Amino acid sequence: MAKIQMTTPLVEMDGDEMTRILWQMIKDELICPYVDLKTEYYDLGLEHRNETDDKVTMDSALATQKYGVAVKCATITPNAARMTEYNLKEMWKSPNGTIRATLDGTVFRAPIIVKGIEPCVRNWEKPITLARHAYGDVYKNTEIKVPGAGKAELVFTAEDGTEIRELIHNFKDGGILQGIHNTDASIASFAKACFNYALDTKQDLWFATKDTISKKYDHNFKDIFQEIYDAEYKEKFEAAGIEYFYTLIDDAVARVMKAKGGFIWACKNYDGDVMSDMVSSAFGSLAMMTSVLVSPSGVYEYEAAHGTVQRHYYKHLEGEETSTNSVATIFAWTGALRKRGELDGNKELMEFANKLEKATLQTIESGRMTKDLALITSLKDVIVCNSQDFIKEIRKTYETL
Ligand code: NAP
Ligand code: MG
Repeated sequence: MAKIQMTTPLVEMDGDEMTRILWQMIKDELICPYVDLKTEYYDLGLEHRNETDDKVTMDSALATQKYGVAVKCATITPNAARMTEYNLKEMWKSPNGTIRATLDGTVFRAPIIVKGIEPCVRNWEKPITLARHAYGDVYKNTEIKVPGAGKAELVFTAEDGTEIRELIHNFKDGGILQGIHNTDASIASFAKACFNYALDTKQDLWFATKDTISKKYDHNFKDIFQEIYDAEYKEKFEAAGIEYFYTLIDDAVARVMKAKGGFIWACKNYDGDVMSDMVSSAFGSLAMMTSVLVSPSGVYEYEAAHGTVQRHYYKHLEGEETSTNSVATIFAWTGALRKRGELDGNKELMEFANKLEKATLQTIESGRMTKDLALITSLKDVIVCNSQDFIKEIRKTYETL
């Protein structure tokens, strides 16, 4: 059979350790036999980042802006141990941080639902997608440990020298202080990314803050979302038959637990950090979680939600067999290929992506899976596959579809 042709290249960002091994297997077994794969390749493996003084990361982010769709392998964020392990010139920044800052994006994470891996919350029938604002608040804070009695004030000095001054607290003794901020521009980008993603995936959008208590800070988030919704998205949402719904964060948490799923939950930075770990664990596994960075200008970067699976890689290096789950990395590829197909009007490419996802899920549902899933599945008599065999099994299933 003739291979599926592509018109525009995907930006391909290769990565590190076990996921780099899976990356090659997925391309060899599941993509290249069927698609005449066109990519602009960037090697974000730590060695190459070090050789290029991390220029390759910035180049890959700029290429993503140019072409519109990227697929990224998990990468090492260096720490002190990695400095020695890879003999690094510098402790290079997190590639995800660099890419996020360049694309000004919001991260959307959704569980991959499969029969046999049931969420702990019984009424969750459909995925819940978490949209996390990735700028400011407590992640860019300034803190003081107050040593003793004294007055704390919040002061803003405008460029012309005028001041706004608010009393925080008259301390009678020691205590703590924290200064946090956000910007209207960043909140607006976050809002637009959420509204666009909701339209794109035809799901309702929920957003929640604590605006009753935080009457200026959180209220500003609520107001910016509402203004943008009314001005730019209300009609589009109505036409798509979806809803934008704002509530208080504690009310949202209570409703989420009782809901059926099938919506996007937009969260401020801290709420998103905490709630995405809760939602993902409740759905089963980080290796069954998709992650996509969406910029307000409509640029997409797909990846797995997990890291480079270092422990498995060291086993692999010692010649031991591994059973590493490739589902999230496969879905990063299918997500990117489907989006590329959509943007290029390439129906065959979109159908290929759908079919490969179906083959992946059917393989698991037929009882062939990696060890992480075998430990939590409700299916009986499952066959535990090693990393390579699991991918080969998916190919076999694909051939039957
Ligand atoms: P990790 O790669 O997410 O793995 C942590 C543990 O979770 C693994 O040891 C494994 O548990 C389990 N696991 C994760 N993914 C799995 C998969 N696909 N199949 C089976 N089990 C899986 O986190 P890490 O080992 O702490 O971090 C390794 C490196 O990843 C770090 O250098 C970090 O900087 C980087 N990282 C990158 C990204 C990214 O690029 N997006 C995100 C997070 C971390 P068992 O060992 O119990 O089997
Ligand atoms: Mg966290």
